[in-house]
Amino acid sequence: MDIADLPQEMLAAMPSYDDHEAVRRFILDDGAGNEFVAFIAVHNTNLGPALGGCRMTTYDSEVDALHDVLRLSRGMTYKNAMAGLPLGGGKAVIIGDPKTQKTSELMQSMGEAVDSFEGMYITAEDSGSTEEDMVEMSNQTDFVVGLPPEMLTGSDYGELGGNPSPLTALGCYKGIIAAIKYRYEGKKQLSDLTVSIQGVGAVGLELAKLLDQDGAKIIIADISDDNIATAQKVLKNVTVVSTDEIYGVEADIFAPCAMGGALNDDSIAQLNVDIIAGAANNQLMDSHHDEMLRNKGILYVPDYVINSGGVICVGYEFFRKSNYNPQDFNIERGSMVAHVEKVGETVAEILTEAEKRGKATGETSDQLAEERFLKGSSLRTESNDGSEEGNDKPRALVQ
Ligand code: NAD
Repeated sequence: MDIADLPQEMLAAMPSYDDHEAVRRFILDDGAGNEFVAFIAVHNTNLGPALGGCRMTTYDSEVDALHDVLRLSRGMTYKNAMAGLPLGGGKAVIIGDPKTQKTSELMQSMGEAVDSFEGMYITAEDSGSTEEDMVEMSNQTDFVVGLPPEMLTGSDYGELGGNPSPLTALGCYKGIIAAIKYRYEGKKQLSDLTVSIQGVGAVGLELAKLLDQDGAKIIIADISDDNIATAQKVLKNVTVVSTDEIYGVEADIFAPCAMGGALNDDSIAQLNVDIIAGAANNQLMDSHHDEMLRNKGILYVPDYVINSGGVICVGYEFFRKSNYNPQDFNIERGSMVAHVEKVGETVAEILTEAEKRGKATGETSDQLAEERFLKGSSLRTESNDGSEEGNDKPRALVQ
């Protein structure tokens, strides 16, 4: 495997660079003589080691992949800060088709790449990578989470680990409840409201189930007929529309749970909802769409805040796996779930603060995140059992 640190002078010209602490380019081997380029970017570690997933996808060019990894790793710094985690932001990408080009050897080679950061970067699943891939990487590095629970039981990790999607859905549900309370001043609840959901995959379906239990009317759209059929089987009060119709349907809340860029000039013109709150990453096509939604009177709940349940889940797995717990969190499943449920409080805090500052919600969330990670040590130091704890700049030591 080849490793090269990319020079600052080269990266500084890229708009997504934003003073990354480290960016490396790797040439990985798939065990059959083929080489694959990968990048790992660490944006900021003021709050702790950088945690973010490993994406595998095709790109038109290496420069596109580099842009993507920089943008994504920066996003993780903001997400982890707002999730109240003592973690920084980083991300990895492998350029290749995960369906046809992935091999065990390739993922092990990626494990070596992760290990070269000696704990400054911790990886996990992302689009194009799976639990099995994390297991392959774990043969080469300790700095990997999102491992199957059965792998962890023998090491007393017990109830941590496993698929984070239900936790992402839970955080999203709590965020939606908080947004409803704020928007309708406590006068409405889910049983009075209609929620349109774009994408009923791993997170969207779990979210739909929680909303359905509370008596909300649900409208769904998905490109997968199978996923629609599954949703129809498990939901009580559901209507299906086409993927083109989902933006224009009559609903109170729109939950994007499919792909990025769902909020753009076209979709915003069609949306006639009070609240947007969903799990998809990078929902705003462009930063000015944040302000556009505010001008239209739509309350946008920032995506990286409401979808942070998954990273809280894998973060706790890492805290258990390592010696690293600067905020003295109680590292067991119940406390992890309680931490995810706090997403609702964070959403309420952002919405209130945005109104106070007279700013759009996305911009306000970014500012609040920067206030946390640029100061580093000023991270909220309340541990999850409510006590106050110190917060020295952390070191991760996996045992
Ligand atoms: P998934 O692939 O399981 O589900 C996505 C669903 O969206 C699928 O059912 C797919 O068929 C559907 N879809 C794709 N394009 C569509 C379109 N144009 N219109 C309607 N439906 C469409 O993925 P997931 O894990 O549920 O993640 C959903 C989103 O949430 C992604 O943006 C992901 O990055 C984000 N997210 C997921 C997690 C997690 O824990 N899984 C955590 C944070 C963020």
